[in-house]
Amino acid sequence: MFPEQRMRRLRRTPQLRAMVRESHLRPEQLIYPVFVVPGEGIDHPIKSMPGQSQLSIDKLVEKLSQAFDVGVVSTILFGIPSHKDPVGSEAYAETGIIQQAIRVLKERLPEMMVITDVCMCEYTDHGHCGAIVDGDVDNDRTLELLAQEALSHARAGADMVAPSDMMDGRVGVIRERLDDEGFGHIPIMAYAAKFASGYYGPFRDAAESPPQFGDRKSYQMDPANGREALREVELDIAEGADIVMVKPGLPYLDVLSRVKDRFEMPTAVYHVSGEYAMLKAAAQNGWVDYDKVLMETLTSFVRAGADLILTYAAIEAAKILRKE
Ligand SMILES: [Zn+2]
Repeated sequence: MFPEQRMRRLRRTPQLRAMVRESHLRPEQLIYPVFVVPGEGIDHPIKSMPGQSQLSIDKLVEKLSQAFDVGVVSTILFGIPSHKDPVGSEAYAETGIIQQAIRVLKERLPEMMVITDVCMCEYTDHGHCGAIVDGDVDNDRTLELLAQEALSHARAGADMVAPSDMMDGRVGVIRERLDDEGFGHIPIMAYAAKFASGYYGPFRDAAESPPQFGDRKSYQMDPANGREALREVELDIAEGADIVMVKPGLPYLDVLSRVKDRFEMPTAVYHVSGEYAMLKAAAQNGWVDYDKVLMETLTSFVRAGADLILTYAAIEAAKILRKE
């Protein structure tokens, strides 16, 4: 009790504050999401995500070399295919944009951890995350497509696959397919609790993947449901997920914290496009100090229980960490 207890004693100097700091952000925790397009020499800025671009493979190699040099050792790839169709054929084609990108990256930057997003929405002409039957995504038919997609990524050399579709049973189906085909060593990072969020807006510009009809509420989660998120995570772990993810980040810190406390699994959080865009917009208006609010945000994820953070600000954050 006061006056014996004075909380301010340990806040007096930078040294004291550093000594008792509870949460630390390290560059190895950051995963940099990128958008790959066909072609050469393409660096096409994404308007709603200042500082981010759609990149052709040659430019992607340049960008990821920069990331690697500042300590960001992992990336997650999103592909924009040359053509889209109802069953998203390019998602699992050997010559698909992602499969090509993986091969080049593993050759040019062999130490970079290449994670792939496994989903159909970038590749389907209707923009939904799976095969459509009677106007809605058909869960079980989609599973086979996802298994093929994950396998084609592993064959191309991906280090990890990350299913983001929210179909029931997909982690188990992907695990089984990878194991059967000799890829038992490839981990699965499951987008376990992915909410139907308005914060994905800028991403849909970037990935050119907005649904052409309806929305994704029949497969992504209701933002109001925290307990349901725990059930989703539990099922993905039972099916063989190695890392579980909560998405988006800041509006779901409570979910992140509960997931970590309950399951003690390696846990990732996705600091999504809308969260990134809001920070950028406020900073451009001079309303917040970008570096400060960025680091505060990323540190809040670690404090809440995240081991890994997917963020478009990965390179910026790693540079800031170097200066500190
Ligand atoms: Zn999707």
